[in-house]
Amino acid sequence: MSTANGTSANGNRPAQDRSNLIPFSSRLKEGRALAQDVWSIFNAANLPADCINLGQGYMNFAPPEWIKTAAEEALNSVATNHYSHPKGRMRLREALKAHYEPELGRSLDVESEILVTSGANEGQYSVFVAFLEQGDEVIMFEPFFDQYLPSVTFNGGVPVYVPLHPPIGAGKQSAHEWTIDFDELRRALTPRTKMIILNTPHNPVGKVFTRHELEQIAAIAEEHNLLIMSDEVYDTLVFDGEQHVRIATLPGMWDRTVTVGSAGKMFAATGWRVGWLIGPPSIIQPALAATTRIVFCSNSPLQEASAVGIEQAKNRGFLTQQCKEYQERRDILTSAFDSLGMKYTNPQGAYFTLLDISNLTWPEDYPFPPTVLGRGRDFRACWFIAMEIGVSSIPVSEFYCEEHTSIGESYARFAFCKDVDTLKHAVERLQNMKQYLA
Ligand code: GLN
Repeated sequence: MSTANGTSANGNRPAQDRSNLIPFSSRLKEGRALAQDVWSIFNAANLPADCINLGQGYMNFAPPEWIKTAAEEALNSVATNHYSHPKGRMRLREALKAHYEPELGRSLDVESEILVTSGANEGQYSVFVAFLEQGDEVIMFEPFFDQYLPSVTFNGGVPVYVPLHPPIGAGKQSAHEWTIDFDELRRALTPRTKMIILNTPHNPVGKVFTRHELEQIAAIAEEHNLLIMSDEVYDTLVFDGEQHVRIATLPGMWDRTVTVGSAGKMFAATGWRVGWLIGPPSIIQPALAATTRIVFCSNSPLQEASAVGIEQAKNRGFLTQQCKEYQERRDILTSAFDSLGMKYTNPQGAYFTLLDISNLTWPEDYPFPPTVLGRGRDFRACWFIAMEIGVSSIPVSEFYCEEHTSIGESYARFAFCKDVDTLKHAVERLQNMKQYLA
């Protein structure tokens, strides 16, 4: 409490504004790190309780029983409650070796070519820590998963954006029709370019990059000596018989590629935060040095359960069945857009679909909260849909740099990693959008 003459009640010092006493690092002023993140704005907690949550990409169902049982067993043992080796638990590294060797067409060394991380995010962060020098440029294709941006800038990297060009035309569009202009990609390269972030299957577009596209990216990487960070966390969710091609398997690419994976996506366990990096020792060893000092090691019991998941998934036919179920979920959700006659992207992979909301309208005086004002039009559209239609989604301009907001703000991203009943209910509600379409 301060007195009339400005000294505090204890008589020592003048009263002062203490809210900024300790200045925080200027790092936080970059990469939109201080802006409220889209996941918090569109968090279920901020929306009506009965709003159907197709926003943030997590499941409304649990991991399979047999994997949960493995987690329980791990919690009931002694060793699995304690630190793991920073490289990851041997059981999980062995399981990953067995799973990825046929995928990558090479043998893998569990000591130097596989690294378990605290989710794919932390794995990627470790790669940025390990490889970026101040001012190194990192190419990301827009739309990009929002987390890449601050992860790059926190480590001195400079993001360079290359757009995926959206399909033109109406109605249902294939995610394949989001395309790279390879001349544009070449023009984005400078002597400071260090890395390309690739994401296939792609969040939020659902594009599964073709072999031909990957070959062109690979040629550029070879020519300019670039590291490829290949975020393949949705690699087990590829639909319509499409083939997921791993860029690490293209000629010459193993040595410059780190492949990123995630137990969260594989086993409907996004909160477990178990991910991994796979690549040559020249990439994995520096990433290990970084991850050891960031988290030391990843959580042990859930690594053990993830190992059991990977060990048994094939024999149980789990991944094939799961993929089939996601494809059905996709078809249920997109039937809503078909019957509304709206333009949308039909994904070949992952669990998101982009709806073109450019012809959605709302009353001019609609009471939007400050969190969505001053952002792209899509923030208001998604808010309006959540409040009036009762289905939440994610505004896609968040996946674009500021200069390209006008591209992203045409889309809302709907997640279909939800049970069939929930999706059917959402489809019914979404029909009410008709009255708001111009
Ligand atoms: N990958 C998930 C999504 O895109 C979750 C992202 C997050 O919560 N940071 O929805």
